[in-house]
Amino acid sequence: MRFVIKIGTQSISGKSGLNKGRIRQIVAEIAALFKLGHEVVLVSSGAIGAGLPLVQFKSPLRKKIAAAVGQPILMQSYIHEARKRRIVAGQILILSDDFTNRKHFKNFVLNMEAMLSHKILPIINENDVMKREDLRVNDNDMLSAMVAVGLRADKLIILTNQDGLYTKNPDIDKNSELIKNVTKIDSKIKSLCFSKSDLGVGGMLAKVKAAEYATQKGVETLIGNGERRGIMGGALRRNFYGTRFMAKKI
Ligand code: GLU
Repeated sequence: MRFVIKIGTQSISGKSGLNKGRIRQIVAEIAALFKLGHEVVLVSSGAIGAGLPLVQFKSPLRKKIAAAVGQPILMQSYIHEARKRRIVAGQILILSDDFTNRKHFKNFVLNMEAMLSHKILPIINENDVMKREDLRVNDNDMLSAMVAVGLRADKLIILTNQDGLYTKNPDIDKNSELIKNVTKIDSKIKSLCFSKSDLGVGGMLAKVKAAEYATQKGVETLIGNGERRGIMGGALRRNFYGTRFMAKKI
């Protein structure tokens, strides 16, 4: 199977920079999928989170500069863990424009297929410095959906710091229950996106919108908690701990 796995900033970085333990866990779980013969593409945020502690000045471009400083630090951590498991990893920085420009898109697919056929782990992030707009957390959610659709992945797994969608706001309502399966993403499902990210932008909503895009184009999407050990392996089985969004048959 071909998996696209997206890991969010909040799952791998904190105030003091990267959470190396979490990176170790992610790479270990990817290595287990590799051993079973699966293909994995990782879409990882965390460049800004890794760079911010080193960029202590006021500037309207602070986040972009932090991304430039943090991206190699982020990659260094992944490469370090991957090497311990004899996995070769490569970095790809893309823009959403690359999916609308036919030549760029063909080139992207060609290079990604080549990496996957040689068992190299592609680690994708948005090319934050070259992006014209300001940077927002959660931009990688939709980007990962575009990657999954573009590469015809079997599954998109979006890992965050929540277990998935709940029937009620889990932060305030003890009777809330985790929704295991979603067959149709409609306004009712979107109204259950309670969690906000640190910067106050709709954290869960961005993920559900990414799931909507991917499932419409035939890619099953799972949202789960990156802090739960074995979360990726669960995606292979019916007992995934999180919310599974069924793909539309196309
Ligand atoms: N590309 C940004 C980073 O690596 C984050 C975008 C996102 O959180 O989705 O820090």
